[in-house]
Amino acid sequence: MAENGAIVSAAMRIRRFWRATSPVEPAMRVALARRWAGLPAHIRTPSQTLGRWGLGCEGTHGVFPQCNLSCTPCYHSRDANQVRIDGAHTVEQVTLQMRHLEEARGPRANAQLIGGEVSLLAPDDHAAALMAMRAAGREPMSMTNGDFDYEYLRDLVIGPDGRRRLRRVSFAAHFDSMMSGRRGLPRPVSEKDLTPFRRRFAAMFDRLRAEYGVRSFLAHNMTVTPANVDQIADVIRDSREDGYGLFSFQPAAYVGDRRKWRDGYRVVTGDEVWSQIEAGAGTRLPFRALQTGDERCNRTTFGLWVGDMYFPLLDDRDPRDLRVRDAVLDRFGGLSLTPGALSLFLARVARVVVAHPDVVPVALGWAVRMLRKIGVRRLLRHHQIRPMTFVMHSFMDAAQVAPAWEQLQRGETSSDPETRAVQERLQACFYTMAHPETGQLVPACVQHGVLDPEENRELRRLLPLIPAGEACCA
Ligand code: SF4
Repeated sequence: MAENGAIVSAAMRIRRFWRATSPVEPAMRVALARRWAGLPAHIRTPSQTLGRWGLGCEGTHGVFPQCNLSCTPCYHSRDANQVRIDGAHTVEQVTLQMRHLEEARGPRANAQLIGGEVSLLAPDDHAAALMAMRAAGREPMSMTNGDFDYEYLRDLVIGPDGRRRLRRVSFAAHFDSMMSGRRGLPRPVSEKDLTPFRRRFAAMFDRLRAEYGVRSFLAHNMTVTPANVDQIADVIRDSREDGYGLFSFQPAAYVGDRRKWRDGYRVVTGDEVWSQIEAGAGTRLPFRALQTGDERCNRTTFGLWVGDMYFPLLDDRDPRDLRVRDAVLDRFGGLSLTPGALSLFLARVARVVVAHPDVVPVALGWAVRMLRKIGVRRLLRHHQIRPMTFVMHSFMDAAQVAPAWEQLQRGETSSDPETRAVQERLQACFYTMAHPETGQLVPACVQHGVLDPEENRELRRLLPLIPAGEACCA
């Protein structure tokens, strides 16, 4: 009898392990297929990651629109700073939006906790929002201007009971010289002025790991205008060792609060911005091996710093690397990358390799090529290898998006080539926001360019800075 019980319990354990190490869960497989089928034909290319590797990125909206810095440009609508930060509202809305994304898009995705300045939320509310995102299968990243202290970070990860409630956090910190009001640097003159602030921000996360064992991933965001485009390369050179794993550059768009717009944003082309990023990386950055959505919206290069040299993982001009890309997307697409569970991840990879041993020679060939490019001596000299991703995300102007979206809502394709190009980009959007109240999923360009102004006007009524009843005089 006892022997039977032991056999049953062992069988259950094996079944649980088998399920947990399934490379792609069935619901994710379905979601990927649906995503792929819904993409416009022009982006269903071999390099496309949407629908093959993942579902794309997501973000919150209308949850805490207020910010404590001031930027030119600023994508927030003019009412955003008239809305009270309200933790209960934030957590409730984040939960609803994430549940809708889970149901409508699929079980797993990366999502940004974004709106205004995330550190204006009380640490408990911020933590609750992150946990609500994780409960819906989202891996959250908090978007910040980086103007907060270590104590805030500590109180975010350590609950009031003194116990660690978050084992890992991701932050995207926005630093650029068009932001004013930062403590210690209210009016930066150049990007260089911000170098110590970038460093100080990243150092807080080293301390967090040392003191509480909380791991982190940091991204660095920067808006690009004619005023700072020629400083991109130095930003990368000066801050590449600070601890950021991703540098994202966003050419400024005419969106949000028009009082904060300046002339000439569109003088800077995507190619110019990218060549400045390449100058900072010190090498060509191939962005056509892997594409996320539409190339007019996004460029991405994954790579490694070994010492002071950057090595992209894939060369889009090398057919052997493109075969690696194909093998990775075909065999590993949708792989569950749950952070924090390395053993499970390795077991999933092992199962893919056993099922598709043809990936082994492809992977070995790639590893040998990378080794040759980097050089054994360099590798031995610089044993610390730092992965880094470079991104350029080019948002569109509100004036372009509004008519294109309106026509799409009526099921119309524009006959005007420029508007049609905008429609193509919106249909291929990789960055989605949820409207559970209408069941809609909208591109972030539509959210910021079309929907935010009215949403913030309503929020201003719902969450006035001075709640009704308190607006009185003594
Ligand atoms: S449509 Fe807008 S939000 Fe979507 S990927 Fe393109 S630029 Fe980004």
